Amino acid sequence: MTDPVPSAHAHAPFAPAAARATVTAAALAARHDLVVCNECDAVHERITLARGTVARCRRCNALLGRGHVIGTEKLLAFAIASLLLIIIGNSAPIVTLDFQGVVSQATLPQAIEATWNAGQPFVAVLTAATALVFPLVFTILRLYLLGSLVRGIVPRGFVPAMHMLAFVTRWGMAEVFMLGTLVAVVRCASLTSATPGIGLFAYGAVTLLITAITAAGTHNLWKRSSEIGGNA
Ligand SMILES: [Zn+2]
Repeated sequence: MTDPVPSAHAHAPFAPAAARATVTAAALAARHDLVVCNECDAVHERITLARGTVARCRRCNALLGRGHVIGTEKLLAFAIASLLLIIIGNSAPIVTLDFQGVVSQATLPQAIEATWNAGQPFVAVLTAATALVFPLVFTILRLYLLGSLVRGIVPRGFVPAMHMLAFVTRWGMAEVFMLGTLVAVVRCASLTSATPGIGLFAYGAVTLLITAITAAGTHNLWKRSSEIGGNA
């Protein structure tokens, strides 16, 4: 893992930096068989990576891709499971409070609405975005991309969808929501009886699945699309 694996062939660009950035962006959009280093813009040929190997930039040693044990078909299964668990996580209670016999339950959307109504719109929007919207968009994009790629089709809008996937991967923070909720449940437990609900367990599973999917990276998706040979 720590050893640099010279498994990607570098084509060191000689153009000035500004021009190079334009060329590499255009090259990536049109050529799924090329990978551009995020750190130094060097262009490499995308190759199949064996399980357990990593590809690093020949110029700056930055990580380019990882040969992961989870294949494309398994990633699709993970994404389907993730979508089902997000639906359960948003329809089942995340916590049940029992205060002197008065029982109240709240699902995630209800908790967000209550936070908004309590005069905390910033917290409500932040929670909705990081715990609900980004994980959901992440999962739907993965389903869209993987659902087509496993059938040997490059989906329409493949490159913009991959860029959007990178964005939501960066901003989806279901694990932060999980930790925050657990801390809140523990703190509530000293005042009243607080029991984690099915929704919270579902979100725990979503967090694990999204972590596994994210760890697999996007190299497989780019490689599969270049093998199919379509330009979306
Ligand atoms: Zn580099």
